[in-house]
Amino acid sequence: MYQSKLLSKTRKDAPKDEVSKNAQLLIRAGFVSKEMAGVYSYLPLGLRVMQKIEDIIRDEMNKLGGTEMKTSIIQSKEVWEKSNRWSDELVDNWFKTKLKNGTEVGLSFTNEEAYANILKQYISSYKDLPVYPYDFKSIFRNEARSKSGVLRGREFYWKALYSFSKEENEHNEFYERSKISYKNIFDRVGIGHLTHITFASGGTFSKFSHEFQAVTPAVNKEVYNDEVLNSLGLDKNKLVELKSIEVGNIFSLGTKFSEPFDLKYKNELGEEKLVVMGSYGIGLGRLMGTVVEILSDDKGLVWPASIAPFSIHLIEISSENDKVKKTAESLYGKLAENGIEVLYDDRDARAGEKFNDSDLIGIPLRIVVSEKGIEKGEFEIKERKSGKIEIIKEKDLMEFVKKFVE
Ligand code: ATP
Ligand code: MG
Repeated sequence: MYQSKLLSKTRKDAPKDEVSKNAQLLIRAGFVSKEMAGVYSYLPLGLRVMQKIEDIIRDEMNKLGGTEMKTSIIQSKEVWEKSNRWSDELVDNWFKTKLKNGTEVGLSFTNEEAYANILKQYISSYKDLPVYPYDFKSIFRNEARSKSGVLRGREFYWKALYSFSKEENEHNEFYERSKISYKNIFDRVGIGHLTHITFASGGTFSKFSHEFQAVTPAVNKEVYNDEVLNSLGLDKNKLVELKSIEVGNIFSLGTKFSEPFDLKYKNELGEEKLVVMGSYGIGLGRLMGTVVEILSDDKGLVWPASIAPFSIHLIEISSENDKVKKTAESLYGKLAENGIEVLYDDRDARAGEKFNDSDLIGIPLRIVVSEKGIEKGEFEIKERKSGKIEIIKEKDLMEFVKKFVE
């Protein structure tokens, strides 16, 4: 992609009311645009990162046996009344609206009811189970505070998978496998080494659930009650407090939702049994924001190769020089032919400005095409993460880049 066609531009300052590091950097680098507190639009660069995270999660969910679908955002009152989660007294973060005829509807703040209601039509026999449907979806929550940038949106994009199993042990087996998938996901997006699986009180759903917490100086503090600690055999005094971000969680739901939805199947003996459910969530925006919080440095964003918007940032200096332009264009073409994703800074701007922008945007590898380099038949390469600069001979460049991208 030509940087001149990117539509976004870098900026020196984030909006004054933006206090989170993740959104400040993402806005300054042109990855997101702030609509209001807790509401962000994803610009071309941000969307590319989001899509790469989505692809990784989809791959892991499919390997786990998941089946992708898409549930609607508009939700009907009757469905949510079944589980007693329509009332604003019981759920404090609903966004609700009305149809022209006055009928109340809600915007999805979660998906359990939607899935139980849909699956009710298709589950009747033990032969129909287990099933693991999931979707990627925008979720709406009227969060009281939203000062953590994309980590806590009022509108955010997530993946939610729901497991429908015949019995506890079938559920447990899947639940354990899901932990491995989650670990793979956090490894693949580059924060696995800092992400820990933790016990959590399951809130209204179930006594225990697990959260995946990425350790960072950013936000988020969970306070455990003594009852939960006791039942886990843990001593409060021996626990170490770390600041972390919950990037994902998994819940055993038991029959909490299958009961109100009368979600039953006939077993091999013809007996009616309630389906055992589980839920498995990951916030994609939050995950992206967590990568920013953890991996950025004082110059800007630093993307792991797996989710970087582009693999290579190709920079020409200067654009007015015909030889430079020709060489850069031809290199851009060659890289593209080899399936390598390149952001090509073809703008008419000073070298210093281009380098600063490149550091801020955080693409893993920078290649500079300059007149001096062309004369010597070489290119200057800089690795964003380490800051290491190397001079590579023209004939060795493609091999070097291919290796790096791999
Ligand atoms: P939190 O305790 O941080 O509010 P939650 O318990 O409400 O999270 P869930 O409802 O289980 O989270 O949602 C599943 C996942 O969705 C979370 O693990 C997190 O990654 C993400 N998530 C939850 N709320 C938000 C939000 N407001 N903005 C962005 N991502 C979110
Ligand atoms: Mg919440």
